[in-house]
Amino acid sequence: MDEQSVLNQSIEVLSTIGPKKSEVLIKTGIKTLEDLFYYFPRRYLDRSNVVQIRQLREGQEATIIVKIVRKGIKPGRRKRFILMVSDGTGFLTCVWFSQLNYWQRIFNIGDWLALSGKIGNFGGLQMSHPEFDRLNPNQENKLVHTGKIIPLYPSSEALTRLGFDSRGFRRLMTTLFQKYHQQVEEILPRQVIEELRLMPLKEALRNIHFPDDFDRLYKAKRRLKFDELYYMQVIIALRRHHTLERQSGIKFDQVGNKVKALADQLPFELTGAQKQVLREIRSDMKSSRPMNRLLQGDVGSGKTIVALVALLIAVENGYQGALMAPTEILAEQHYFGLKQQLDSLSVTVTLLIGGQAKAERQSALADIQSGVSDIIVGTHALIQENVNFANLGLVIIDEQHRFGVLQRGLLREKGLNPDVLVMTATPIPRTLSKSLYGDLDVSILDEMPQGRKPIQTVWRPETKRGKIYAFLREQIRAGEQAFIVFPLVEESEKSDLKAATDSYEKMSVDYFKGIPMGLLHGRMKPEEKEAVMAAFKAGELRVLVSTTVIEVGVDVPNATIMIIEHAERFGLTQLHQLRGRVGRGDKQSYCILIGYGELTDEARKRLDTMVETTDGFKIAEVDLKLRGPGEFFGTRQSGLPDLKIADLVRDADLMNTARRSAFALVKEDPHLRKPEHSCVRTRFLKNYKEKFEDIWEP
Ligand code: ADP
Ligand code: MG
Repeated sequence: MDEQSVLNQSIEVLSTIGPKKSEVLIKTGIKTLEDLFYYFPRRYLDRSNVVQIRQLREGQEATIIVKIVRKGIKPGRRKRFILMVSDGTGFLTCVWFSQLNYWQRIFNIGDWLALSGKIGNFGGLQMSHPEFDRLNPNQENKLVHTGKIIPLYPSSEALTRLGFDSRGFRRLMTTLFQKYHQQVEEILPRQVIEELRLMPLKEALRNIHFPDDFDRLYKAKRRLKFDELYYMQVIIALRRHHTLERQSGIKFDQVGNKVKALADQLPFELTGAQKQVLREIRSDMKSSRPMNRLLQGDVGSGKTIVALVALLIAVENGYQGALMAPTEILAEQHYFGLKQQLDSLSVTVTLLIGGQAKAERQSALADIQSGVSDIIVGTHALIQENVNFANLGLVIIDEQHRFGVLQRGLLREKGLNPDVLVMTATPIPRTLSKSLYGDLDVSILDEMPQGRKPIQTVWRPETKRGKIYAFLREQIRAGEQAFIVFPLVEESEKSDLKAATDSYEKMSVDYFKGIPMGLLHGRMKPEEKEAVMAAFKAGELRVLVSTTVIEVGVDVPNATIMIIEHAERFGLTQLHQLRGRVGRGDKQSYCILIGYGELTDEARKRLDTMVETTDGFKIAEVDLKLRGPGEFFGTRQSGLPDLKIADLVRDADLMNTARRSAFALVKEDPHLRKPEHSCVRTRFLKNYKEKFEDIWEP
């Protein structure tokens, strides 16, 4: 067994880890010894920051080390769980208002804790919902008093139950380091480490878990952040290198009558931004280098028409064009939209989605293969093995953040070096887009079509529901159309679906009696969905109650009111997308966010942001701050590894350093074959190989 694979062993090789414990750890993402080495403390307890209870003042953020002296649930108007603690210099009360029984169960009198939080004053000093970590009275109190920095690990209820609170993790790490620390292998080329004066990996891992001092902890973090950024940039550099290498793409020279006819029949003038972006796409398509372009444009900025023109250019040059969308509803909408605009130009549009009847599907597949179809619109169904294109020349991916890089690659593989255009409504700060999408050129639609009125947005507590629906009824009587959206959270898909269905049934007999309503959700058959959407578009249905299936892309310009139930459960970007379903015509539109129960600070911030602005860029910035780049960009969106410790925004300088270093490496050794790069190659193949199957045989 080579040393690399020693750390690939399951955590069960540790004598203290039985099947039960390993199951919970695996759920947390810790499968191997290596994963455990990379399970970093969430923060550190620094003895120099610990204060005594008698020094506490109201309003202060403080960390104290205390023993539990009393606990209990206090009845009253607001039931709460109370913990009385002491450090010998005084007493302090801690309060929890939710999950009372859980707290009652897990705290024991006599336990030592490190508590952090803000000091409030309610007839005496107290902390509510403090962050806490259990300490081991004998060992760790001593440690604290001798001035060491104590790592505090992230935990969860399930982990805690099996002994993996912060203290449990410290024990586990101690064992891990005793037995396996020597086996940790360097993953960066020596030259890079020396040139950038990075801390060697072994030392960095030891210092991130058991820091000698804050200076070394800082260097350890810098090193580990660098690793993440470096590998991310190696991926980008390889993608860039190996896509540019395929020089010969298709030259689309012709722009003929069909494009002109389409332009003539458009009911509106293209915006300046649309024209500019079309020029950029045009020049890519004309050149023999394959197009690889990202089109960014806020919700409602008019990306579809840009896609349509590009597809038509492909068709006029004798090629097929494919448009892939993330949901069936969106694919169908594109299909009907394109068909309507292209029928008179004798261009054949074909739809391919998962939920089609067998016969329909067979005939679609035959048309795609024989070349009868000029433009093919579909979902993931397009990248399945049995789909063969006659001559696919252009691939467009709508709402690309919903797809992985791999799926993009798979659709590309259906043609011979086709041009690729990916479209997204998620704005990415320019500094980042270069690093994240280093293999793509970027176009931006930074102008909204004329005559749009800003959507008026408010948020209201659930108690105002009656009033809101009264307003809605009035508006509908006056001829408007509305969406009412219920959240669909993955874990509880069933119960949320029930919430939407029940509310729909209830509303149709009370609030909206006599008003034609429709219900739309993901479990319906395609033809049912289609019928409901068509009726809503045609104005026969006045209210559409829906789950988030309408989140992306849906375009019904007549609808002017969007009501979002349980708005506190949605992320900002998602709220922005949903709101973008209205405000698509020249009429005044409204968005009403309904929040339930007591909101967290974060939820409140999200709703406030929605009220304050309709600018997708600003919203993305706030979202990025609230969720952090890891979540915001996600692996799915970028196709890049998730960052655990590095931060794309805060560590921008380090990223640039990593980028230069990674690009130099790939330039010098594009297949990572040199012996001095073998550590990069090994790690790369182990972790990221599948992300490259579309472009690179190592
Ligand atoms: P998105 O960028 O969100 O995909 P769409 O392409 O769906 O936006 O366009 C939103 C709406 O704006 C559609 O109803 C479309 O017909 C309309 N639209 C697009 N371009 C223009 C324009 N230049 N002037 C007026 N309306 C436009
Ligand atoms: Mg769209």
